[in-house]
Amino acid sequence: MLTQQKEEAIDIAFFIKKIQSALAYRESFYADATTTAFRVLNGEGDGLGGLTIDYFDGYYLFTWYSLGIFEFRSLILEAFQQSVSFKGLYQKKRFDSKGKYLDDKDDFLLGTQAPAPLLIKENGVTFSIYLDDGAMTGLFLDQREVRKTLRDKYAKNKKLLNTFSYTGAFSVFAALGGALETTSVDLAKRSLPKTTEQFENNHIDAAKQNIVVEDVFLYFKYALRKKMLFDIVVADPPSFARSKKHTFSANKDYVKLLKEIIQITKVGGVIVASTNAASFSMMRFHDFIATAFKELKGKYKVLESYSLPKDFRVHEKFQEGNYLKVVFIRKIK
Ligand code: SAH
Repeated sequence: MLTQQKEEAIDIAFFIKKIQSALAYRESFYADATTTAFRVLNGEGDGLGGLTIDYFDGYYLFTWYSLGIFEFRSLILEAFQQSVSFKGLYQKKRFDSKGKYLDDKDDFLLGTQAPAPLLIKENGVTFSIYLDDGAMTGLFLDQREVRKTLRDKYAKNKKLLNTFSYTGAFSVFAALGGALETTSVDLAKRSLPKTTEQFENNHIDAAKQNIVVEDVFLYFKYALRKKMLFDIVVADPPSFARSKKHTFSANKDYVKLLKEIIQITKVGGVIVASTNAASFSMMRFHDFIATAFKELKGKYKVLESYSLPKDFRVHEKFQEGNYLKVVFIRKIK
């Protein structure tokens, strides 16, 4: 539903108003030269359910989550062009019945094409972004504060394991924060070149970091057998994933995942447990953590937690929109 006021017309002026107020809300982000990628419009949170717009150093990526909003695309794009100056526009469509990305040959819309990779900065760290390379761009912007916290408060002199590591963004931040060693594990083959690239963007010798292409559940078995222990373990799995051997659903399997991780975390070490599953609350996530430690007769302390950053604006009446849950946990026993 686009409007709750009956008399409000859905015309170009309507969209201009939404876009301008979304941009105004992110003024401080535009002003910060150390971060050049952030969300400028976040669906319901900005009064336009079904559409997100992300900023990547002068380029904008529109993601359409419903046919309903997509049908207004010409008006929305016209409104956008009247409100914002940009280098180029890209789009992704994710509105089939399963919410899956519909692969287009070309995600480029207007303006000039972005270089591939497009280099952006996040709190001074450089990342390669690919605006036209499948469903994902290389960086999940909603974890910005978590990555910064990991670098600034936790990583120094620590051995870090990053599970479900994708392009290794947490590992890069940890290495820059002075981690002794990072290990990134992801089963996608692309994760090896992609992670190497992100390290090299930041002048870190990727050969001195471990990048492992493997199912994390197999890696846990290996680590346990080798009696490996880490100071910090990051777990940011997808809400749902199927590999050859395992189906992982955050809702059903997060406790199991945590139990594996607890066993390879040093006493006194930190687990960064994250989920983007919208199907359960922060309270329930805390229950998962409590259950996992209880079943292993362990003890822990919650150090801090995070949900979506300010640019991922959430509607006050749609708190389900705040799907991100991240908890920093110290293993005490
Ligand atoms: N934590 C990442 C984002 C994770 S995206 C970041 O901060 O950038 C989810 C990733 O999980 C994908 O790269 C996918 O390949 C990987 N994945 C899914 N199931 C997996 C499994 N069983 N073992 C290892 N990686 C898995």
